[in-house]
Amino acid sequence: MNAKEIYGLMKDPSEADKALIEKAYNFANKAHEGQKRFSGEPYFVHLVEVGKNLAKMNMDSTTVAAGILHDTLEDADISEEDFEKEFGIEILFLVKGVTKLGKLKYRGLERHVESLRKFFIATGQDARVLVIKLADRLHNVMTLEHVREEKRKRIAIETLEIYAPIANRLGMGKIKGELEDYSFMHAFPNEYKKVNELLKEKINVEEGYIEKIHRSIQKELAKNNITHAHIDRRIKHIFSLYNKLKRNNMDIDKIYDIFALRIVVDNVEECYRTLGIIHSVWKPLPGRIKDYIALPKPNGYRSLHTTVFTGDGGMVEIQIRTKEMHDEAELGIASHSMYKEIPSLESTKNADKKLLWIKQLAEWQKHDAKSDEYLKSLKTDFFNDRVFVFTPKGDVIDLPDESSPLDFAYAIHSDVGDHVSSVRINGKMASLNTKLKNADIVEIITKSSNHPSRKWLDYAKTTMARKRIKLYLQEQNPILMKLFRK
Ligand code: MN
Repeated sequence: MNAKEIYGLMKDPSEADKALIEKAYNFANKAHEGQKRFSGEPYFVHLVEVGKNLAKMNMDSTTVAAGILHDTLEDADISEEDFEKEFGIEILFLVKGVTKLGKLKYRGLERHVESLRKFFIATGQDARVLVIKLADRLHNVMTLEHVREEKRKRIAIETLEIYAPIANRLGMGKIKGELEDYSFMHAFPNEYKKVNELLKEKINVEEGYIEKIHRSIQKELAKNNITHAHIDRRIKHIFSLYNKLKRNNMDIDKIYDIFALRIVVDNVEECYRTLGIIHSVWKPLPGRIKDYIALPKPNGYRSLHTTVFTGDGGMVEIQIRTKEMHDEAELGIASHSMYKEIPSLESTKNADKKLLWIKQLAEWQKHDAKSDEYLKSLKTDFFNDRVFVFTPKGDVIDLPDESSPLDFAYAIHSDVGDHVSSVRINGKMASLNTKLKNADIVEIITKSSNHPSRKWLDYAKTTMARKRIKLYLQEQNPILMKLFRK
């Protein structure tokens, strides 16, 4: 083992980057000398693996170094002052952030509110703390078989309930999938076995025609002068397959995107041209063509999707994107090395959209004293499934599942929410308690004389909307509101 194993995974590290990694490597190696993990291997191996995970996630050298050092303050005999002298205030800050998070013991989502708060406060200050924690957790779940059973299960479930959704919300598709798959087998071993068997059968049946269409596409693209296309086969992550199976009575034949071909081309123009070429050779399955380039998912995901009939009884999903879109889908907020320019979320006026929700969660807790309310808002606004709906102009609004037009209106602006008069969904008048569905186009009609009523509380689901409505009602009639609360 040596430090090069880590910085060798970074994108063009400078000499200073390499020197920093080298220094952190040697320091941690010495500090953790003699310590062992459950598996019996040296503890230092874990730190190197965390560093490697971060390097693969495209993080800067400061973050990678902090990852290598993430347990040093706690485990080694060194004062904060000395640590700061060695590595500077920034790395000290990150390591302290990770150390604090590490002390929180998970006892299920319900009983975990306090820890969650701390979690979001810590990460609200600097999202890199969270990314280090994700890299740390990934190596921990990859080596769970060495942990005793009860603890193993707890860590696996915690990862599925907290860490994976966070990675997802940050658009970090690759680490989200890995966290889920490694946890799934320990959290739900029987279900894992079952899905694995179903998947194996399916692979046997479908491998042949995937192979065939893969080669044909390559030929077709070359004929049409798209010569730099890179085609990959991807199999759906097993945990996300499990979730989809649950929604489809465990019938694997209802799931069309178990296998996908992923085509990475040079630019956007080539994406659409490639789609055209594919549709001219293979018939697309109606209703399965999705243009996430023109209309990205709210977590930033961009790609063209289509499912085509392969002609020999099979169907294959094809995803087309540029290299940039691909990196974004895999790495999310880390894909732009944004951390070099934006060290702290607090200090950023124009924080990345994907980070805003963390900030929001951190801020809510400052105002919301009651923990049950906080947990409820976390569950509805963050952990639940989301629907993506559109304004008439085509802007995407990301809402929790089963949201109503009122939630939509308040998500646009509190002024719009406060004066809702009626709503048109997909061009038709609809009632205010309609449950919005994915891709609905929602047009709110306001009237300045209209105001929230108590009925609205039955319709609104998001924390933001409910808060505004309650506030209005309270201002109107404080006594009545008090009665109503009970
Ligand atoms: Mn660790």
